Amino acid sequence: MFLLRPPPLSGESLSSWRQRAGEMNGFWRYPPAPGAARYMEPDRLRDDQEVRWLCDEFSIAEDELRCLTLEHRLRSLGITFQEATKLRWVLRLNPSQVGSSGRSMYCPLCLLEDEAPYFRLAWRFAFTTHCERHRCTLQEKCPTCGSPVWPASIQVNAPTAWLPLITCRICRSSLAQGFRLAHPATLDRGGTSSNIDGKSLDSLWYFAQLLLRARSRRLQKYIFERAHIDHAEIVTSCTIEHLPLGQRQAIITASAWLLHDWPTNFLSAAAACEISLGTFSGTLHLAPDCIQKVIRSRLVKRDRNKVTHESISKAIETIAAEGGSITKSAIRRALKVSESSLLNSMIAQRRRATTDEGRRLLLIIENACAHATDQRSHRSALQRDCFIFLLSMISGQRVERVCKATHASVKTILVTSSEVAVIEEARALAKGLYGEVIKSFASREHQIGSPFLLSRWGEPILGHSVRQRISAFMQIDFPEDLWRSVDVFSSLRC
Ligand SMILES: [Zn+2]
Ligand SMILES: [Zn+2]
Repeated sequence: MFLLRPPPLSGESLSSWRQRAGEMNGFWRYPPAPGAARYMEPDRLRDDQEVRWLCDEFSIAEDELRCLTLEHRLRSLGITFQEATKLRWVLRLNPSQVGSSGRSMYCPLCLLEDEAPYFRLAWRFAFTTHCERHRCTLQEKCPTCGSPVWPASIQVNAPTAWLPLITCRICRSSLAQGFRLAHPATLDRGGTSSNIDGKSLDSLWYFAQLLLRARSRRLQKYIFERAHIDHAEIVTSCTIEHLPLGQRQAIITASAWLLHDWPTNFLSAAAACEISLGTFSGTLHLAPDCIQKVIRSRLVKRDRNKVTHESISKAIETIAAEGGSITKSAIRRALKVSESSLLNSMIAQRRRATTDEGRRLLLIIENACAHATDQRSHRSALQRDCFIFLLSMISGQRVERVCKATHASVKTILVTSSEVAVIEEARALAKGLYGEVIKSFASREHQIGSPFLLSRWGEPILGHSVRQRISAFMQIDFPEDLWRSVDVFSSLRC
């Protein structure tokens, strides 16, 4: 099929090499292996048949081929990632989100210097913001028309002509237009380079995510002031990979500041911004061990003298008046303590629920799912959480375990019948939600052993957020000792 078989160039990405090779052989867009679908992510290799086809057609060794992929680079940097989910630090190619989000990048000077212009794998990673060779900031769009560049442009429309990689695929002008080769000293220096090791990249990612939470505004401001970071308005509640380059650079520099002189900067920021263990609830397990250790040992606030029956009752009243859900963690947050034995004994829990309570909860769940707000993301997150809870109730597995269940085990839970009527009612409700849930949350790229359900960001779902949602329902008209005991409903199985 191919007469010309160019070898990959230094640091080249899989999609760039395939496109160059395709072009040399007369294709406008590189052809997929016979029978293979085009991937959403052209810099990954997911199909063994495709790997074999590429090796045979281009006389390339499998090892050499795999070196061109995103996974290979992440692995060689030692970055944590899960095969089945979205890859950490990788800029997304979803064309529908391209306008507002982080984009695949390029160095115009590298393209200008290249004998055969090609795209580097390094330009796909959110932690790279500068060209190591030219010390200049990378670009994320065509300087003429603003369109996304290769490989995001692969999906924009079907090509109608032969276009070399240095050309914008939309307006056909050169991507290096307006950039001139200059002496390195005249260009801006510094920036984030890709030669940080994986351990610090994992830490950097964790702190970047933390800084992007709406709750971290104060911390963000504190660091920006101390580290002299110039910043525009930073978008909150998204992942670091979704930020435009300038904002990403600010957040990465701020995260690096937190890690600098570890843990001195971090602890001083935590003290100044009143950050304690509770701030990290639900996400701490994602942090590298060295960070977890410091947070668990240095940020625990135990205050036996301050917490009294009276202060706990007052906190409960305040939370209820504000319409919040009364959970131990909400009370701890209100009291600004990380642990309180008095609180634990006050909010005692029952180990069994009654059938009547089970039925009542099912009714509440059914109504909530049927009358959820019109906002699609809200409704589908609600349905997903209820679905997970119902599976936990039916199977007796803890919520956390259901969050990690594969598609096959979810299906098994749905079809294994029980003699207990209320469990069968829960199963019917779960079956009804299955179709909706699969549409919004099922991982698109099924792999053996990968979790069936993922969050909107492609990350594993956290048990605690499911628990929080269900215990909020339970506060409608359930006795207080059941409020946090989401697990008691699986006791109805026997
Ligand atoms: Zn360059
Ligand atoms: Zn253009």
